[in-house]
Amino acid sequence: MRLAHERETGSTVKPSREKVQRWVRPEIRALSAYHVPDASGLVKLDAMENPYGWPQELVGAWLGRLRRVSLNRYPDPEAGGLKRRLRQAFVLPDEAGLVLGNGSDELIQMLAMAVGGPGRAVLAPEPTFVMYRMIAAFTGTAYAGVPLHSEGFGLDMDAMAAALERHRPALVFLAYPNNPTGNLFDAAEVRALAECAPGLVVVDEAYCAFTEASLLEAVAEYDNLLVLRTVSKIGLAGLRLGMLVGPPAWLEEVDKVRLPYNINVLTQVSAEFALEHKAVLDEQSARIRADREALFEALAALPGVEPFPSRANFILFRAPRGRANALFQGLLEAGVLIKNLSGAGGALADCLRVTVGRPEENARFLEALRALL
Ligand SMILES: *Cc1c(COP(=O)(O)O)cnc(C)c1O
Repeated sequence: MRLAHERETGSTVKPSREKVQRWVRPEIRALSAYHVPDASGLVKLDAMENPYGWPQELVGAWLGRLRRVSLNRYPDPEAGGLKRRLRQAFVLPDEAGLVLGNGSDELIQMLAMAVGGPGRAVLAPEPTFVMYRMIAAFTGTAYAGVPLHSEGFGLDMDAMAAALERHRPALVFLAYPNNPTGNLFDAAEVRALAECAPGLVVVDEAYCAFTEASLLEAVAEYDNLLVLRTVSKIGLAGLRLGMLVGPPAWLEEVDKVRLPYNINVLTQVSAEFALEHKAVLDEQSARIRADREALFEALAALPGVEPFPSRANFILFRAPRGRANALFQGLLEAGVLIKNLSGAGGALADCLRVTVGRPEENARFLEALRALL
C-alpha cells in the first residue's frame, strides 16, 4: 500500500465526484449552503440587524475592557460572569437553567443533537425560520412542516394536533414572533401545544425586544417548554451569542453536546460590557419599534403593496402579483438590499421582507420602491 506521505508534494489532487457522492450523506448533498449575499455599498435591510452603533465614549470604554483580555488563554468554559449578567439583564427566573450558544443557531443544533437523530422528528409551522429544517437535515432528523393559516399566519391547531399525533416529534419549534411573517402566535395555542406535545417545545424569542409578549414565565409551568433567545437582533449580531432557558433537567443534558469554550473570550467580555449598558440597546429597539409603525403605514399606502402587521424588527409585504423578483432586483440596482422570499411560493408567493433600518434608510427604500411600482 502506497501511503499519502510518499506522494510527490505540490501536486493538486482533486476528489472525484463519485467519491464525494459516495461518502457525503444524501440528505447533506440535497441541501444548498445557507447563502448570504454580499451587501457592501448597499443599504442593508435584509438581515434583521440593529442599524445603530454606540456613542463614542461607550466604544472607548469597551476597547479599554478588551485591552485587558488574555487571548493566549482559553475563555471561562462556563462563561459564569456573562451568565450572571444575562440572568439579570433578561430577568430570567432563578430556578431556570441556562445554556449559552454561539448564536441561537448553535443552540438549535445542540437541541437536535441531544434529542434528534435518525428515527426522530422535528416539527415546525411553516413558513418559519429555515434553520429548523436545515439543522434537522444536518443531524439526520426527520422534519415535518405544518402550514400556517394563509390568512393572518396563525397556527392551524387541527393540523398541528394531527402532526403531533402522526410524527411524535422530539422537538417542536415555534418562533414567537415568527420569522418571516412577523406575527405572534396565540399564546394560549402555544401553551396548548406544550400541553399535548410528546417531546420538547422550543419557543424561539429572537425578536422579544420588539414586543411586550413573551412566554418566559411559562417555562416554570410546563415540564417540556424551553425558551430560546439571542442578542443578535438587539444590536450584537456580530458577537454570536444565544441562550436557552428551561428546566435544569433538560438543559444539563443539552449542555453535554456543547463543545468546550463555545463562547469565545471576546464575546464574553464584549457582551458583558454591552449588557451593563443595556439601556442604550433598549432605547435603540424602542426607536426601531416606533419606526416600524411608520414604515408599515408608508408601505400600506403604496399601490398594490400589502404589508403584514409585525411584532418584530422587519415587515413582510406582498408585492403586486408576479412583480416581486423585479422589485427586489430594481431595489438592488437602486442600492437597497432586502430579502426576496417569493421563490418559496405558497404562502410567501410574491412576498418580500424588509428590516426596519434607520429613518433615512427606510426613506431610501420607500423612495426606490415607489419609483419601481
Ligand atoms: C435571526 C433568528 C435566529 C438566529 O439567531 P442567532 O442568535 O443570530 O443565531 C433564531 N431564530 C429566529 C426565529 C431568527 O429569526
